[in-house]
Amino acid sequence: MTEPLLFELTSPGRVGCRLPAVDVPEAALPGDLLREDLPLPELSEREVVQHFTRLSQLNFSVDTGFYPLGSCTMKYNPKMHEDVARYPGFTQIHPRQDESTVQGALQLMCELQGYLGEITGLPAVSLQPVAGAHGELTGMLIIRAYHLERGDEDRNTVLVPDSAHGTNPATAAMCGYRVVTVPSDRRGNIDAQELDRLMDESVAGLMLTNPNTLGLFEEHILEVAEIVHGAGGLIYCDGANMNALLGISKPGELGTDVLHLNLHKTFSTPHGGGGPGGGATAVTEELGPFLPLPVVARRETKEAGAGRLEYYLDYDRPSSIGPVSGFFGNFGVMVKAYAYLRSLGESGLREVSEDAVLNANYVLHRLKEYYDLPYDRFCLHECVFSGTVQAKLGVHTIDIAKRLIDLGFHPPTVYFPLIVDEALMIEPTETESVETLDAFVAAMRQIAREAEEEPQVVRSAPESTPVGRLDEVAAAREPNLRWMG
Ligand SMILES: *Cc1c(COP(=O)(O)O)cnc(C)c1O
Repeated sequence: MTEPLLFELTSPGRVGCRLPAVDVPEAALPGDLLREDLPLPELSEREVVQHFTRLSQLNFSVDTGFYPLGSCTMKYNPKMHEDVARYPGFTQIHPRQDESTVQGALQLMCELQGYLGEITGLPAVSLQPVAGAHGELTGMLIIRAYHLERGDEDRNTVLVPDSAHGTNPATAAMCGYRVVTVPSDRRGNIDAQELDRLMDESVAGLMLTNPNTLGLFEEHILEVAEIVHGAGGLIYCDGANMNALLGISKPGELGTDVLHLNLHKTFSTPHGGGGPGGGATAVTEELGPFLPLPVVARRETKEAGAGRLEYYLDYDRPSSIGPVSGFFGNFGVMVKAYAYLRSLGESGLREVSEDAVLNANYVLHRLKEYYDLPYDRFCLHECVFSGTVQAKLGVHTIDIAKRLIDLGFHPPTVYFPLIVDEALMIEPTETESVETLDAFVAAMRQIAREAEEEPQVVRSAPESTPVGRLDEVAAAREPNLRWMG
């Protein structure tokens, strides 16, 4: 970094704030908490603001650039939804308030449950889970509860395709299941024959992603559902990436029994820094009684003759798996999802998916002469290339990713899905213009040319960032978070 670090700027005696005179009796501080030597930098307010503003500008963000991180749906989220989520009527209520004083918030949640039920074709919805993986856990606990309630106690296995997101097998294992992997076939679908062979009375269900992590629609989804249901199992669909299906296809009509959505991917909550998320979980009518406690519901008011509706939290659900959050989930995320759905409407929602699919196919077609495309099919919201051609020239996927940073783009997801060698998983999303896609394609083509002509340029990237390549393993295993002068 060319600019000096904040700590190096220190100038003894310089201060950035002035404290008011003490107006309470002074008390001695415990001696063991005091240090003689505390080398904090001494700076003016102006210098501190400059430092932190500069730091913030080192971040790459959806608001500043193209961020085609596959499976993450890093789309632009309209600022209006942030404004709406900050209305005092939403931010200044408390989960312990009496229901009669928060009817608007309950109505919003109830209607959102309804919209998500309509979008997924799975009418019973819980908004409680606060992340995608949390929605998976909720969904798999529901599947377990369903089998147990029927006295079907010997199902100890969950099938997971080899293309699955890592959270799927992890979730199944956390619910106490044995995980068995189902291979993919040559077209990138789950291998239906192999599934048929593995499916028996010991299997609680199949966890599947559709479109799968290759960005491909499961062509045999109806046959897959028949095989699983035929042996008494249920289908969990990982709906984290719903961006390709909105208003076009309903997982519930394709045999899915349980599904989670990532409100923080598809439904307008920015993410990536570990902020609040939403893993709304939707299930069939039959599985509705197992949803987490409580569910937001609506009933006629008891006042005689009023005939009005009131919203309430329904705790009277004896089959429920119980609460999965301290309260009712991340409410601000729900407000943003609600605003997003209301502002788009039914036709706008369908357009989101049509544009997302169009953009991914545009990138796929403009790059397939330059990068190996292991599954050469029409893709949905993302496309997966392989860097094997470049790897033979000594330039690996990690190098391509780092070089993209120099050229102004956030890298795609790399080395995932695991079944693609040197994978580059590109998800452009619907919010990018054709000019942006063209610029990205030009950068990717430039890197392909550099791999042939001057591979060291790619291998030594990035050169435009304050730090170059980091030892990511050491950074995770031996974090050194303290600056020492
Ligand atoms: C992002 C993602 C998840 C996990 O979501 P989190 O909110 O990060 O827990 C699960 N499955 C798929 C396919 C995803 O893309």
